[in-house]
Amino acid sequence: MKFNPADQIQDLQYFGEFGGVNPSISDSSTYTFLSAKTMFDTFEGNADGCYLYSRHSSPSNLYLGEALAAMEGTETANVAASGMGAITPVLLQLCNAGDHIVSSRTIYGGTYAFLKNFTPKLGIATSFVDITKLDVVEKAITENTKVLYCESVSNPLLEVADIKGLAALAKKYNLKLVVDNTFSPLSISPAKLGADIVCHSLTKFINGSSDTVGGVVCGTQEFINDLRNVNDGACMLLGATMDSLRAASVLKNLRTLHIRIKQHSNNAMYLASKFEKEGLKTVYPGLASHPSHKLFSNMMNAEYGFGGMLTLDVGSLEKANELMELMQHKNLGYLAVSLGFYKTLFSAPGSSTSSEIPEEEQKEMGLSDGLIRFSIGLDNDIERTFQMMKTCMKEVGVL
Ligand SMILES: *Cc1c(COP(=O)(O)O)cnc(C)c1O
Repeated sequence: MKFNPADQIQDLQYFGEFGGVNPSISDSSTYTFLSAKTMFDTFEGNADGCYLYSRHSSPSNLYLGEALAAMEGTETANVAASGMGAITPVLLQLCNAGDHIVSSRTIYGGTYAFLKNFTPKLGIATSFVDITKLDVVEKAITENTKVLYCESVSNPLLEVADIKGLAALAKKYNLKLVVDNTFSPLSISPAKLGADIVCHSLTKFINGSSDTVGGVVCGTQEFINDLRNVNDGACMLLGATMDSLRAASVLKNLRTLHIRIKQHSNNAMYLASKFEKEGLKTVYPGLASHPSHKLFSNMMNAEYGFGGMLTLDVGSLEKANELMELMQHKNLGYLAVSLGFYKTLFSAPGSSTSSEIPEEEQKEMGLSDGLIRFSIGLDNDIERTFQMMKTCMKEVGVL
């Protein structure tokens, strides 16, 4: 049977210790041992089912991790305090001084800044490439390259990575393919397409209520053990640990992810088609005009759609700001960064979430001033929303 990520989550079963339908929340930073020998073995990483200290692991974090591993179809997973708290240890675990990373040039601003400004201090170099061109990616690989890094659907330009093609390159050159799947949970299953490691910012669609930051690394048991190793594990030693209370609340939200993603996708598809028909420069992977529409269609778990993210280019930053302020005034959404909320969120990435990327490079990659990134909400009546947005667009003169 075809892999279905939401069914994988559904098929998990766990109870609280008193039979509660939700697992009990572990409210402890440290754990007792009945014998001193077991404590020693746990330090050594070979006492399954025992807990040591909550920076290492906790029952609540393991429950959430296992649900996310089921969703991505990986052996296991490790949750972290934020998306960056998941991505940065992965890269530091895989690379030593002198190593090299080939990364997509259109990635989340924070990840870009980490690779551009931070890892060079540790002797790790990164080449940023157009990830949609496999020949360009291959040419950038050197004998020091250890990692291929990309987002399945990129932030903010919504470029789509050919994960199967990249996985083949990774295999050929013995690299690890790391994919950030934050923009397309359920819709795309990178590990099933050959990615070695899948990261998410849980802050976005997966938690979906904009009330916490969180992250996860999904991968093999061996790699996750490495990250948690008390001697040289980047997750354990850098310490970006999720709190148990948060892990429990993210797990509860994860259960409605499939319903939310379908609604985000339906609403975004509706608006993208309408905006395009009105003559606006619209980018959405679900539109036939998107350069990677076919690729996305071939990779996707079809029932979850093309996701909730779209962009419009309204020509200038002034127009973009005017439109966003008016839409917020009319309560069509909020002028805010982040994504995956019940309400539509919009921002101009050039001057906000991608401002870490120098202006010249923004131009080169097609990130224009007038670009507005939308995270489309769960609106019940999307046609009504469209009519109200259209009125705003006419008022500011972009239509
Ligand atoms: C938000 C985001 C991140 C970073 O996640 P945080 O939870 O904010 O640390 C990484 N990648 C993508 C694609 C994101 O949208």
